[in-house]
Amino acid sequence: MKSETKYGMIFNIQKFSINDGPVIRTVVFFKGCPLKCTWCANPESQEPRLQIMWDEKKCLYCNTCVMSCPTLAVKNVDGKIKVDHKRCSGAGVCSERGICIEKCPAHALKAEGERKTVDEIMQVVMQDLPFYEESGGGVTLSGGEATMQPEFAIELLKALKAKNIHTAIETTGFASPAIFQRVIEYLDLLLFDIKHWNEAKHKEKTDVSNVPILKNMKYAIEAGKEVLPRLPVIPDYNNSLDDARGFVQRLKEVGAKRVQLLPFHQFGENKYHMLGRDYAFTDVKALHPEDLRDFQQIFIDNGIEAFF
Ligand code: SF4
Ligand code: SF4
Repeated sequence: MKSETKYGMIFNIQKFSINDGPVIRTVVFFKGCPLKCTWCANPESQEPRLQIMWDEKKCLYCNTCVMSCPTLAVKNVDGKIKVDHKRCSGAGVCSERGICIEKCPAHALKAEGERKTVDEIMQVVMQDLPFYEESGGGVTLSGGEATMQPEFAIELLKALKAKNIHTAIETTGFASPAIFQRVIEYLDLLLFDIKHWNEAKHKEKTDVSNVPILKNMKYAIEAGKEVLPRLPVIPDYNNSLDDARGFVQRLKEVGAKRVQLLPFHQFGENKYHMLGRDYAFTDVKALHPEDLRDFQQIFIDNGIEAFF
C-alpha cells in the first residue's frame, strides 16, 4: 500500500515503556489537548502547535536567539528567554530545525512538536515488532489527546492493526461521540482518565465538563471494549473520602468495575519552567499509595477493584 500523505503533530515517540499499557509499549505522544489540567506532567502536550522550550540552566544569555529570529518571536524579558508562539513560524518553516535552535551555542533551546507521517511512525514502531510478538506488548497513543487529531490517529491505528499489533490509548475521553466511536473501533484497550466526579469541580481545573467524558466511557464499556478507568488523585482537589464516594457513583453509572489510582507527583515541574509557565504545585507534597488506603478502601467496599 502506498504511504498516505497526512501529517500528525507528535512530540515524542518513546520506546520500551512499561507504564502505558500491558507489557512493553512504544508510546506515540500526540500534541494538543482539550483539557488544561494544572497538574499535567506533560505540559508541552497541551498546545496543538509547535513550542520552543528554553533551558535556563544551559543558557549563556548571549541573546543570539533573540537577534536571529526572523519573526521577532524570541525576546529576553528580564533575563529570561521567552518565545511568543503566536509569532513563531515554527521549526521546519523558518529553517529545518528552527533558526534559534540551530544558532544557540549552548543547546539551550529545543522544539516540542514535529509533523510526522504514519509511515515515519511505523518505521520506528516496527523496529520492536519482535518484542511485541514475544511479550504481548504493542503501541499506545498518548498525549495530549490523540482524538484531537482523529483522522491521523485512525490512519495510524489502521496501519498498526494491519500488522496485528496490540493498540491502546491514554485518553481524556473528551471528544465528540462520532469521533470517539470511530477511533475506538481500532483500539484493543482504553486507559481512560477521570479527573473529577463533580461537573463543576471538573470544569474548575480542566476547563471542560465531565459529561461527554462519562458518556464516552459508558459507550466504550457497553460496546465491549476493554476499558481501564484511571484516576489521578490530586491533593485538595479530588482526594477526600467524599470524593471517593462520588467517583464510585460515577463509575457504577458507566458500568466500570475497576479503577487505577494514580497518586499525584511533581514529575512535570521543570517542563513548566522551560515553557515559561508557572507551576501551581511547587509546594505540594507528592502522594503515595500508603496515603490513600482509606480512599482506596471506599472503592473496594463498593465492589470496584481499585489498585495502584
Ligand atoms: S523557530 Fe524560527 S520563528 Fe520560531 S522562534 Fe525560533 S527562529 Fe523564531
Ligand atoms: S542563543 Fe541559546 S544560550 Fe544564547 S540566549 Fe538564546 S537560549 Fe541562551
